[in-house]
Amino acid sequence: MKDCTINTPVVAISRHRLMTDGAGVTTLVVLHSCPLRCRWCLNPQTWREGSTFQMMTPMQLLTHVRVDDLYFQATGGGVTFGGGEPALRSAFISEFRKVCPRQWKLNIETSLNVAQEHVERLTPVIDEFVIDIKDMNPQIYKAYTGVDNIRTIENLKFIAAAGLADKCLIRIPLIPGFNTEDDRKRSETMLSEMGFTRFDKFEYKTDINK
Ligand code: SF4
Repeated sequence: MKDCTINTPVVAISRHRLMTDGAGVTTLVVLHSCPLRCRWCLNPQTWREGSTFQMMTPMQLLTHVRVDDLYFQATGGGVTFGGGEPALRSAFISEFRKVCPRQWKLNIETSLNVAQEHVERLTPVIDEFVIDIKDMNPQIYKAYTGVDNIRTIENLKFIAAAGLADKCLIRIPLIPGFNTEDDRKRSETMLSEMGFTRFDKFEYKTDINK
C-alpha cells in the first residue's frame, strides 16, 4: 500500500490498554506538541523543550501497532491518539485511517483547543472523541491552562451542530485550586444544553503544594 509523506512526532506507544481509552483493547499513541500549559499537566514530555520523539509516517505507525490487530478486531478496540494535543495532527490521523484496517476503532483524547479545520478533518474518521474541557468558565480555563477556551467552545458547537454529540465523552474534572463542585455543575449544564449527554466526572489527583 502506498504511504503518504505526512510525518508526525510520536512520543510513546502503549499497548494492551483495556477500557481506559475507548472500547475494547486499545493502543495509545502519544503525539508531540500542545497549545495548553495546564498547571497539573501529567505529560509535560509532550511539549517541554528538549523532549524526544520519533517521526513516523502513517504506514510506519501501522507497522508498529498492527501486531495487535487480532486483539483490536476481537474486542472492538483500536488505536487511541493522545498527547499533547493530537488534534493538531489531524492530517496524519486522516491518512492513518486510510491505511489501517476498516474494523479498527480510532479514538482521540483532545482539549479541542485547535483551529476548526482540524476538527472538520477528524469528524469523518474518529469513532470516539474524549474531550477534556477543563472548565467551561473562561476565567477558570485561562487560569489553569494559560490560554482562552474560545476555540474549544466553538468546536464543541460545531460537533453538536453536526449531530455528532453521541460520539463524544466529555471529561469534566474537579481541578484542585482552580474550580469547585458548583463550577463543575455549571459546566455540565452548559454542555447538556449544547446537546452532550455523556460525561466523565473525576478529580485530578495532584499535590497542590508543589
Ligand atoms: S492539554 Fe494535556 S498535555 Fe497539554 S498541557 Fe494540558 S494536560 Fe498537558
